[in-house]
Amino acid sequence: MKYESTRGSRLKKTGAQAIIQGIAEDKGLYVPETIPVLPFNIEELKGKPYKEIAFKVIGAFFDDFTPEEMRHCIGGAYDSKFTASDVVELKEAGGAHFLELYHGKTAAFKDMALSILPYLMTTSLKKEGVTDRICILTATSGDTGKAALEGFADVYGTEIVVFYPTGGVSQVQERQMVTQEGKNTHVFAIRGNFDDAQTGVKKIFNDDAFAAELAAAGVRLSSANSINIGRLVPQVAYYVYSYVKLAERGVLKAGEPMNVVVPTGNFGNILAAYFAREMGVPVGKFICASNDNKVLTDFIRTGVYDIRKGVREFYCTNSPSMDILISSNLERLLYLLSGRDGEIVRGLMERLDKEKVYEVTPEVRRGLCDFYGGFCTEKETIDAISRMWEKNGYLMDTHTAVAYKVYQDYVRETGDKDTPTVIASTASAYKFAESAATACGIGPCRDGFEYVAALASATGVEVPYGLRDLDKKPVLHKGVVDADKMADAVREALK
Ligand SMILES: *Cc1c(COP(=O)(O)O)cnc(C)c1O
Repeated sequence: MKYESTRGSRLKKTGAQAIIQGIAEDKGLYVPETIPVLPFNIEELKGKPYKEIAFKVIGAFFDDFTPEEMRHCIGGAYDSKFTASDVVELKEAGGAHFLELYHGKTAAFKDMALSILPYLMTTSLKKEGVTDRICILTATSGDTGKAALEGFADVYGTEIVVFYPTGGVSQVQERQMVTQEGKNTHVFAIRGNFDDAQTGVKKIFNDDAFAAELAAAGVRLSSANSINIGRLVPQVAYYVYSYVKLAERGVLKAGEPMNVVVPTGNFGNILAAYFAREMGVPVGKFICASNDNKVLTDFIRTGVYDIRKGVREFYCTNSPSMDILISSNLERLLYLLSGRDGEIVRGLMERLDKEKVYEVTPEVRRGLCDFYGGFCTEKETIDAISRMWEKNGYLMDTHTAVAYKVYQDYVRETGDKDTPTVIASTASAYKFAESAATACGIGPCRDGFEYVAALASATGVEVPYGLRDLDKKPVLHKGVVDADKMADAVREALK
């Protein structure tokens, strides 16, 4: 399996090369040249553990890894760091199936990919004979940063640098990052929002002079954001897994469709579901849920992606990990829907960069029919958590609540209430404890940590081990930088 860029340069790379590079030379994103078909049928997989399904799915994409190498990566990633009985849980509540992806170290779904990425990365470096130090640059809206820090902390041959928006993450999320241990970890708050952080990171990637300066010092840059194909592919596995579980439980027969609902920011998670369907998992609708930053809702409905000032504002919401207007992985979908036309994609991305607006071709528009876009306001988010808790005793975090509310809108609008539906449940409610507690009628409390304690005693839901005693840990990272000084921060980190 080879990887090609979304922007039309015909250079093909192996999986290992694409993982090391993170982003293609022509600034595009890597996609597999064909999406592999499931190397098994669903019946055969019933009853199989998560790791085995992950081995088959991830192995089908990265077939340049030997089975031994892949087993090493999977085994290292999905071990007792995950507290669920089989890495993830699939729980039924309120007419939907919640795929709980947050039972790893940092209590968000980012652990699903970022616990394996360091293994994929170090194995790739070995395979390619790369001896340079790898500096992983990461922009985070709150969850990727901590998961990447945990994944790469003290991994030999790597440095990890994380940028998060000041005031754009929850108190728990921030404390998780700034208390990170590990000699190779570096965390900076930037003055700006997530889009500024992500744009800054992309600028550094595209700065040839900076790359040359680093190369002279024996350093190469790579990414832990979902622009890295090594981040995206591991996420495909849990959609295959949840379909197998639904079949196993008799919720559907193999071959019948399931819908998926994904609270979406950078479009990575929902794109992984799309890859799963391309592999052969019968997915009916991809329900894309946004918060007040509803650029994707409008895009799916109109085919116009518009982030012009005056047309669209950036909102800081109670589901901060989705406070994003420039949704990176959409580029990969545009590439696939346009019949892998890199010229079209390059044109759209340049228009977005310069004019802040683009409209897709009728062909791409037709492909978008498989998607349903909806959004949820902050108040509706709180209401959804509140009602679910009262009626079903099931506690959702704010992002999952956005997904659930949009799913309800979807059912109302389309009448499709019978297709079994999997909701990607992306974080523990404790990461956004103040919102969840408020929804459950608790508070006011003094700070985020008091909300965690109060929510735990009121609901009896266990606090994830990674979030306990955060307020007692020493703050190790205090840097704050301007968005246009991020390269200097990287230089500082690499000293
Ligand atoms: C990152 C994140 C999202 C958005 O996922 P994308 O892959 O960026 O679309 C949603 N919810 C939570 C809790 C997240 O951390």
